[in-house]
Amino acid sequence: MRFDELGLAPELLQAISDQGYVTPTPIQAQAIPIVLSGKDLMGGAQTGTGKTAAFTLPLLQRILPFASSSPSPARHPVRILMLAPTRELAIQVFESVKDYSKHIPVRSLCAYGGVDIKPQIEEIRQGIEVLVATPGRLLDLVEQKCLNFSQVQALVLDEADRMLDMGFIPDVTRIINLLPVQRQSLLFSATFSDEIKKLADKMLRSPVLIEVARRNTVSETITHRVHPVAATSKRALLVKLLKSSEFNQVLVFTRTKIETNRLARELERAGIAADSIHGDKSQQDRLKALEAFKDGTTLVLVATDVAARGLDIDELPHVINFEIPHTPEDYVHRIGRTGRAGKLGTAISLVSADEVSYLVDIEKLIKMQIEQVIVPGFEPEYDYEYPPSGKKKHHHRPAAPSPTVAPSARPQRERLPGRRRPSHIAEDGFDFSKPYECAEPHPVTASTDADKAHAKAHPEHPHKPRRVVAALLGGLGRK
Ligand code: AMP
Repeated sequence: MRFDELGLAPELLQAISDQGYVTPTPIQAQAIPIVLSGKDLMGGAQTGTGKTAAFTLPLLQRILPFASSSPSPARHPVRILMLAPTRELAIQVFESVKDYSKHIPVRSLCAYGGVDIKPQIEEIRQGIEVLVATPGRLLDLVEQKCLNFSQVQALVLDEADRMLDMGFIPDVTRIINLLPVQRQSLLFSATFSDEIKKLADKMLRSPVLIEVARRNTVSETITHRVHPVAATSKRALLVKLLKSSEFNQVLVFTRTKIETNRLARELERAGIAADSIHGDKSQQDRLKALEAFKDGTTLVLVATDVAARGLDIDELPHVINFEIPHTPEDYVHRIGRTGRAGKLGTAISLVSADEVSYLVDIEKLIKMQIEQVIVPGFEPEYDYEYPPSGKKKHHHRPAAPSPTVAPSARPQRERLPGRRRPSHIAEDGFDFSKPYECAEPHPVTASTDADKAHAKAHPEHPHKPRRVVAALLGGLGRK
């Protein structure tokens, strides 16, 4: 399939060729003819599939007959409305609109909050045909009475699942109610929950459903890896990983804004050029951080899920989950930053004992067991247990290698390139610098009941290897 077989106008084909695109991505090949025919569409597509062009190109073609070079605002009413959940995604969609419409006299604007509304009002008054907006700012503009939706022909709701997560559905519903009933509507979402289906019922009429990747799946070009690690050693491990030659441009995810700032500062102190991006930063600071990351001034961008949504960074090779998300769908979204448009990517997750159950949820969702690799010197907590037995252990020991993982996903030991294992760490991770501890009752050393219980084979996983202990004489042994 070639772009010129899709029935697109020469001005759009020229813009596509300017972008260097050679063949349509699967969602483009499927969606473009449907949107050109005027039908409603429900698109199941993750970020990185080329979905922005899949809806922007045919919609631009639909308004092409109205394109006018006239300076009169009356000739440029809002004809296409595109809603995105975050400023970053809105900007990314807007940039695509500008790229694809550069040979057409069509005016477009991106309206998002956190910046002065007046210039946006001013531009709208001059006439805007394609308006890309976040829902909150759009409603602010509606209140300013500078918008007239009577000529809206098409509505796009991008990343509807994130709209839902961020609590925007009431705003979106209010906006939908302001639009002409006769219009084309397109809804895109990486995942389809019942709420999304309900929203689709309200918004779409007899939509054509297309899904380019199975729901909640991740790109096959991504290599996933888990490093089981003690929570207290995560920072040190992250620094070690980032300093290894494997990494050049890395998006690191944390769960909270506070952690995002703190981690970026600590990385800077460790000599790694890093910055952070989250919702409390001003729009200007966020864009500055993003630009520095894109142009390679910073090696690491630490981000929250919300802030990272919609970041479009070409050829981003690595994503590291400093903390794994508690909602498995967020893993899919985070990983959507890498492996885009068929490129190779790595997704690394640092997982501590208390996060194993979230890891299991993620594996269930993506229908894949992720390889677990222990980095010597960065072993997980004593009670790291995969799969989790559901029994919380309350005893704590110094970090020791944990073989309490299912054999198929048992952590492998890894040697990072150019880094030697410290001499006090044995091949299987046993730390000789720590005092000897026995796991079973010992004639001269008192042991706790917890120790005794743990030293026995796990009742639910009798096949599991038991804890590695050092034989008192004769080195390492596996009891
Ligand atoms: P999206 O899923 O819309 O966020 O697009 C992901 C990336 O793929 C963007 O960087 C686009 O510029 C790029 N892209 C979109 N369509 C194509 C195509 N047909 N060929 C190559 N790259 C594309």
